[in-house]
Amino acid sequence: MNAPASHLDALIDALRRLPGVGVKSAQRMAYHLLQHDRASAQRLASALQAAAEHVQHCRRCHGLSETPLCGICADPERDARQLCVVEGPADLAALERTGSYRGLYFVLKGRLSPLDGVGARDIGATELLERAADGQVQEVILATSFTAEGEATAHVLAQALKARGLQVTRLARGVPAGSELEYVDLSTIAHALVDRR
Ligand SMILES: [Zn+2]
Repeated sequence: MNAPASHLDALIDALRRLPGVGVKSAQRMAYHLLQHDRASAQRLASALQAAAEHVQHCRRCHGLSETPLCGICADPERDARQLCVVEGPADLAALERTGSYRGLYFVLKGRLSPLDGVGARDIGATELLERAADGQVQEVILATSFTAEGEATAHVLAQALKARGLQVTRLARGVPAGSELEYVDLSTIAHALVDRR
C-alpha cells in the first residue's frame, strides 16, 4: 500500500475506515470539514485525541471507561449475581438505557465469525469464563445479537458456561431476528430481558 499523497488524502483514508463509511462519504466529510467548518474540524480532532488518550477498557467488564474500574463495576448497588454478556460497548449502553437491568456486564470483543477466522479466544471467551467463575455470579445472561453469528456465539458460550455449573439464560425472542441490539428500541430490549429463559 502506498502512503497517501497529501494530508487531505490521509484524512479521507482515515475517515474511510469508520464503519459504514465508503470513499464517497469520506470525501464529502473531509471537504465539508475543511471547506465549510474549520471549527468543527478542530473540535473533532481534539475530542478524538482526548478520547483515544483517556478512554480505556474496564479491567473487570472490558467495557469502555476512563477509570480502571468503570462506574457500573464500581457501583455497590449493582447485583453481582447477574452477569450480562454483550458483543460490544454500544450494546451495553443500549441495555443501560432501558433502566431495567441492575446486574453487571461482560463485554465481548464482537461475536464468533468462523469465516473470518474469529474464534472463541478472539472474542474474549476465556476471560468471560474466568470472570463468571468469581463465586458471586449465579446467572449469566447472554445478550449477543439475534443474527446468525450472534446466535452461534450464544450457543458456544452457553455450553462452556453450563459445563462449569453456571445458570445460563438468553434474551427472549421479541428482539427481531437479525437484529443488532444497539438498534433495537428500548422497550423491546426491556421485555426481552424480563422474558429471558
Ligand atoms: Zn466495568
